[in-house]
Amino acid sequence: FEKLPVTGDSQDELAQMGNTFNEMMGLLEENYTKQEEFVSNASHELKTPLTVIGSYARLLERQGMEDEKIAEEGLAAIQAETERMKALIEQLLHLARRTEYQTEMVQVNIVRILEETIGAMKASYDREFLLEAEEPVLTETTDIAKLKQLLYILLDNARKYSEDRIEVVAKKEGATVIQIRDYGIGIPKQSLSHVFERFYRVDKARSRETGGFGLGLALAKQLADSLEVTLEIESVEQLGTTISIIFSSNFNAGGLELSQEGS
Ligand code: ADP
Repeated sequence: FEKLPVTGDSQDELAQMGNTFNEMMGLLEENYTKQEEFVSNASHELKTPLTVIGSYARLLERQGMEDEKIAEEGLAAIQAETERMKALIEQLLHLARRTEYQTEMVQVNIVRILEETIGAMKASYDREFLLEAEEPVLTETTDIAKLKQLLYILLDNARKYSEDRIEVVAKKEGATVIQIRDYGIGIPKQSLSHVFERFYRVDKARSRETGGFGLGLALAKQLADSLEVTLEIESVEQLGTTISIIFSSNFNAGGLELSQEGS
């Protein structure tokens, strides 16, 4: 966009308005570019499986009927790519949902929620999850389903990018904190500030093998914003990653904290 010419000193009201306008237009433009990038990335990611499906369908048409091996391979590839597309569309729909802020808080025991989420992970994957927490760890949240979804994304990443055990800690240190620690490949320093961006992947080739589109953490960030919790990520390449969910510290479980402090 064309910047408004801003003259006069910054005390000048008109100059200030001009500056505000320029700032607003800059933000809008940035937003628009991001949106364009998002659509282009999404289209590209959707086109890739379609291309594979198309190629296999043509191959099946030409030779598949006579060659059982080609038929099996082709059908398996078509099914796998269809699943990938379904997963991508599901994530895009989640991202497109408008962030709703609910105000009503419910008190929850984080340990219960972790046990349930870890239980669901264990049912699908043969991995060791160690939960370390003294019962109960109480906090308040606006949406238990969203909290579970957030935990699921972070646990799933820990699983995808490591092979060893995954440690989950729930504790109260002023604020309630959940930490998910893996001893996997870690994230290079220069990538750490980008991992919450939509479609960002450290290693595209590797990520495609594990089935990721680079949307998990973007969705996690959106969920965290709506739950009004903070996400912090620490990682060292080849050593592993710890991601923390920090709850707002102004909750005290029925005055428990206060009475302890007072004693
Ligand atoms: P994906 O669906 O590809 O896993 P995410 O948005 O969840 O996408 O994560 C973005 C990128 O951050 C991943 O592609 C991966 O490179 C990196 N990443 C996320 N979590 C971890 C982790 N626990 N260990 C190592 N790398 C990770």
